[in-house]
Amino acid sequence: MDLSVFFAGTAGSIPTARRGLPAVLVRRGGDRILFDCGEGTQRQLVQSVGLTELTEVFLTHFHADHWLGLPGLLKTFDLRARERPLAVHGPPGIRELVTLAMRVAGRVRFELELVELAPGDVLERDGYKIAPVAVAHRVSNALGYVLYEDPRPGEFDPETATALGVVPGPEFGYLQRGETVRGAPRAGARSAAGGTQDRDLGGHLAVRDAADRQSRCRRAAP
Ligand SMILES: [Zn+2]
Repeated sequence: MDLSVFFAGTAGSIPTARRGLPAVLVRRGGDRILFDCGEGTQRQLVQSVGLTELTEVFLTHFHADHWLGLPGLLKTFDLRARERPLAVHGPPGIRELVTLAMRVAGRVRFELELVELAPGDVLERDGYKIAPVAVAHRVSNALGYVLYEDPRPGEFDPETATALGVVPGPEFGYLQRGETVRGAPRAGARSAAGGTQDRDLGGHLAVRDAADRQSRCRRAAP
């Protein structure tokens, strides 16, 4: 699953010749999530990664440098005949802010879902979660956002699994799902282990090794 973070604007309060006002585009799989939308965000995106259709928008707070680009962006989506609803999340007050802004800028024909969030909320998405957190800023209800990836299995290594005595087939699937399986003991292990009990133990340990390796792969996966 691809995950990238594109900083469309990193200046504060006033744009510079080289830096736009705050906006961060997260691309995860097919999702396109915009965090903040400072004035000029449209152009920042148009001249870089492209002004993609957004999946949803999150505002951190209502200082003008963080949202003034949103009405124009929404109008562009409308001119491009967007039909899909767009959710705009933010601290309490987001409904009044966006409603007022769009009264000035003009209405859009797609549905705007205005969602007020507070620390402790968790938004479940396909394979990840987004959680607002309180941050210290000059306004009382500013939010930061944390994107949590759900645990994912690492890349399966069939050669190592086979070498450790796992039988190719359903056992590979069990291991990939994080389960501990019992594979056939290797021929070398069988002769080296001697008795039945040792042979079983040898096979079991080998499979445990493969499972542990899988577990480490999962933990290391981004
Ligand atoms: Zn601010």
